[in-house]
Amino acid sequence: MPLKNWVHDLDAMSQVEADVAYIVNPHNPTGTAHSRAAIERFVELSRAALVVVDEAYIDFTDDPEQTTVMPLAREGDVVVLRTLSKVYALAGLRVGYMVASREVVATLRKIRPPFSVGALAQAGALAAVKDNTHKQRVS
Ligand SMILES: *Cc1c(COP(=O)(O)O)cnc(C)c1O
Repeated sequence: MPLKNWVHDLDAMSQVEADVAYIVNPHNPTGTAHSRAAIERFVELSRAALVVVDEAYIDFTDDPEQTTVMPLAREGDVVVLRTLSKVYALAGLRVGYMVASREVVATLRKIRPPFSVGALAQAGALAAVKDNTHKQRVS
């Protein structure tokens, strides 16, 4: 689906019957972002079976707490993807996380490769997340 004014065309996307609607918010490479309200509205109107919101750059928005759709993920309405590659500066580790309903998590567990994230990458990711100063130091 082509972008409209450098953002996802959520109105057009909502008309598409699809298994998955994938929204990158903020968008890469344009850097534009939709408000949480706009994505909430999309979720209500969307004909997609599952709405996935990739928040790789959420920490680079003016107001991450107000932009993230994590509250919707807690309700099971969307799947939120985050990576430690960007704001945590850990691109080499290839570590991220997903917040989704129990049903989605259980389904992906069945098809996930058994060694998708190595022990060293897991240890590095946990250390970075637990260290309150790491994110600020590297960004
Ligand atoms: C960097 C990035 C990711 C995740 O990258 P990984 O290094 O594979 O974790 C996901 N989505 C977007 C839009 C990105 O820019």
